[in-house]
Amino acid sequence: MLNLFEENESEVRTYCRSFPAIFKKAAGSFIFDTQGHRYIDLLSAAGSLNYGHNDPDIIKAVIDHLADGHIVQSLDLHTDAKQTFIRAFIEHILKPRQMHYKLLFPGPTGTNAVEAAFKLARKSTGRKNIISFSGAFHGMSLGALAATTNKKKRAGAGVTLTDVTILPYDNAFGDHIDTATLVEQMVLDPKFGIDAPAAFIVEVIQGEGGLTAASSAWLKRIEKLCRQVGALLIVDDIQCGCGRSGTFFSFENSGITPDIVLLSKSLSGFGTPLSLVLVNPANDVLDPGEHNGTFRGNNLGFVGATAAIEKFWKNNELEQAVEEKERYILNRVNRLINAHGIQNLQYVGRGLLSGIRFTDPQIPGGLSDRLYEKGFIVETCGPADEVLKFLPALVIDTSLLASLFDAIEHDLEQLFDVNHQGARAQEGALS
Ligand SMILES: *Cc1c(COP(=O)(O)O)cnc(C)c1O
Repeated sequence: MLNLFEENESEVRTYCRSFPAIFKKAAGSFIFDTQGHRYIDLLSAAGSLNYGHNDPDIIKAVIDHLADGHIVQSLDLHTDAKQTFIRAFIEHILKPRQMHYKLLFPGPTGTNAVEAAFKLARKSTGRKNIISFSGAFHGMSLGALAATTNKKKRAGAGVTLTDVTILPYDNAFGDHIDTATLVEQMVLDPKFGIDAPAAFIVEVIQGEGGLTAASSAWLKRIEKLCRQVGALLIVDDIQCGCGRSGTFFSFENSGITPDIVLLSKSLSGFGTPLSLVLVNPANDVLDPGEHNGTFRGNNLGFVGATAAIEKFWKNNELEQAVEEKERYILNRVNRLINAHGIQNLQYVGRGLLSGIRFTDPQIPGGLSDRLYEKGFIVETCGPADEVLKFLPALVIDTSLLASLFDAIEHDLEQLFDVNHQGARAQEGALS
C-alpha cells in the first residue's frame, strides 16, 4: 500500500526512498521518528547541519529574535540581524584569516550563489567559458548544472548546457597522472580549442562526486594558471566550508587566494537557508539588481549564523575536535582495510567529509540499508554510488562514531566472509 508521501509527492524525491521513516524530532547527532525510534545522523542534511540538530544556543537566539518581534523577511533592506551578522563574520571569520571580501547575499540556495558567481566572473572578464572539473557538483539550476558532471542530473535539464568546459580534477586518472599539467596544456595550447575562461570553479573536497580531495600543490597550480590566463578562481565551499574540512574554509591551509568563495549549507547554523558569495572587491561588478532574489533577507538565517560564529568560531576548539574525529575515522577505516584488503576498500575525503570507497559499487548501498535498520543514517555518493559517505555533525561524540564503525565492521565481516565462502564453494564445485 502506498503511503501519503508515495501517493502524493513527486517521483523526484530521493533521500526519503533510502530512509523512509517519518522524522519528528532531533537533537545534536540524534534524530527521532514518529514511532520514537532513535537514529544517529551521519547525513546532517547533506552537510547543512554542521553544528548538529537544534543547537540550544542557536535555537535560543532564533526564538529570542522571533519573540521580540524583530524582522523576519527584509529583501535586501538593512536590518539589525544582518548588521550583527556582517560584523561577526568580518570580526571572527575574515579578519583572523586576513581575508578581504565584499559580501554578496544571493537567493537562499547554494545553486543561487553559484549563478551569482558565474555572473560576476563573466561580467568581470567579458568572457563566457567557465572551467569546472570532473566529478564536480555545483547545483541544479541551468548555469550551475552546466558545471556539474553527473550525467543523470545533466540529462534532467532537457536543454543544452553550455559555456562550461570540464577538465580533469586532481587524481582523475589515478595518482600516476599529473592532471595539473594536463589542465595547463589543454588551456594554454590553442590546439585544444578551449575558449578563454572567465573562471575556474573548484571544490577542495568533492562532496557529491565521491569525496576526492585536491592537494594543495594541485590547487596552487590551478590558481597560477588562473592568474596566467586572466580567469577568476572560484572556490565552491558550499559543502566543505563552515568547518567541515577541519578549518572554516576548506582552502585555508592550501596557500591559495580565491577571487570568489561560495558558502551556503551550514552557514545559518541550524539548517535554515542562507547563502553568501564572498567576492574580491575588484570583481564586485554587478549593477544594482543585476542579480537578486526575494529571499536574500532571511533574518533567521542571519541570527543563526551569528550565534554559530559566536559559539564555535571565536577559538579553535571546534577545529581541534574535527581533527581528532577525522583521525579516529581514518584509524577505523584503516582497520577495515587491514581486515579486508586495500583492493576492496579505500579511505577517501578529508576532515569530517570522509568515507569508504568500495571497489564493488554494490556494497555501499547494501551497507547503507543494513546500517539504517540498525539506526544509522548513512548515505552513498560518487558516480556509481561506490562511496559510503560519513557526514556527521562536527560536534558528534566519538562514542557514536565508535558504534557506527562497530556496526560496519560486523556487516563487512559477514559480507566478505560470505563472499569467501561463496568463492570457496565455487572453487569446490569447479574442482
Ligand atoms: C549542495 C551543493 C550545491 C548546491 O546547493 P543547493 O542549496 O542544493 O542549491 C552547490 N555546490 C556544492 C559543492 C554543494 O554541495
